[in-house]
Amino acid sequence: MYLLSGLLENPVESTHFFGLIQKQAHRLFEIFQRSFLGSAAGGDIQLGRMGHIGAALLKDLGRELNLHTPLGYRFYNRGVSLLPGFEKLRSATARTILSKTSGFIAEAGFTHSLTPARNCTFGCTYCYVPTMRVQGGLQPEDWRRWGQFTTIKTNAPELLSRELRAAQKIYCSPLVDPYQPAEAEARSMPAILEALIETPPCVFTLQTRGPLILRDLEMLVRVAKVTRLRVSFSITTNRDDVRKLYEPLCAPIEQRFEVVRTLCAASIETYITLAPLLPCDPEELASLALEASGRDLIGDPLHTRSAKPHGATTRDNATKISEKHGFDAWHQPLFQDAVVQRIRVIAEAKNLRYAIGPAGFALLAR
Ligand code: SF4
Repeated sequence: MYLLSGLLENPVESTHFFGLIQKQAHRLFEIFQRSFLGSAAGGDIQLGRMGHIGAALLKDLGRELNLHTPLGYRFYNRGVSLLPGFEKLRSATARTILSKTSGFIAEAGFTHSLTPARNCTFGCTYCYVPTMRVQGGLQPEDWRRWGQFTTIKTNAPELLSRELRAAQKIYCSPLVDPYQPAEAEARSMPAILEALIETPPCVFTLQTRGPLILRDLEMLVRVAKVTRLRVSFSITTNRDDVRKLYEPLCAPIEQRFEVVRTLCAASIETYITLAPLLPCDPEELASLALEASGRDLIGDPLHTRSAKPHGATTRDNATKISEKHGFDAWHQPLFQDAVVQRIRVIAEAKNLRYAIGPAGFALLAR
């Protein structure tokens, strides 16, 4: 039913969609064939495992679609939510929507942050947010099941209309990607953007890595006419194999560069944020980023406990991936400093900067 309704709504995407279905059908057939042959030959595949295999395939299909099309986002959100324990979208009302900043974001110059949802369905393996435990309004279930669901604050636009002031410099968001996969179904951002148009703050910065932002491009152009709108678009590596390891639910790297080009072409002030810096070819990543945005680069290496004894840090999931694939050095401060310096050389050759930490994010709050 979901597939058919999606296809009717998105006829131009159907060819790609059927290609993926076909690919998954082949995989399904191979796995079942191996399973039955394995059982017949005394192999250890049991019937109980078939449910897990089915779940894995459905997630896999959702993930592939998720990377490519708005239909994929919808299929991913609805399809995966059919699996027990995988419900994606929850809702709640909030008491307030703008929070006074502290720490890193305050140091960068933002007065307020706006977080339209709790928990983030991109579920990046390195995400520092769940390591903050219950800070920022997160619940224990959020950090235990990071990325598996999100809770949309349904009254965010009404609250925002009441709380907006002309002098505010707002960062959206330090705790969730406003264009996370679940936003395709939740559609919470258009009403938030409408509230900004009616009562514009001084600065509004969107921090995202989601191609879904292009859905709201026309509204963003309207927002940019009434406030200093900035998009900080995260691109963490130039290597798609690395992206698949650390952030498999995020869009492919080339697609993300294309989003930046589209935003720039629409005159949206867009910066590329190389954060956290994952294993990459630093010179190539810097060159591609400078070419796509034509602006200073912002960044931050992976947080490490040795350099940052307290507060949010890189999740263990990413550290384990680095250990398994021989990328441990990317967590070491001295190695990170050297990579930052290599990127700076490339940026400065174009009379631009590569600014890291609060100094980098301050470019978004001016
Ligand atoms: S997109 Fe950002 S907030 Fe969401 S999981 Fe990834 S790092 Fe965390």
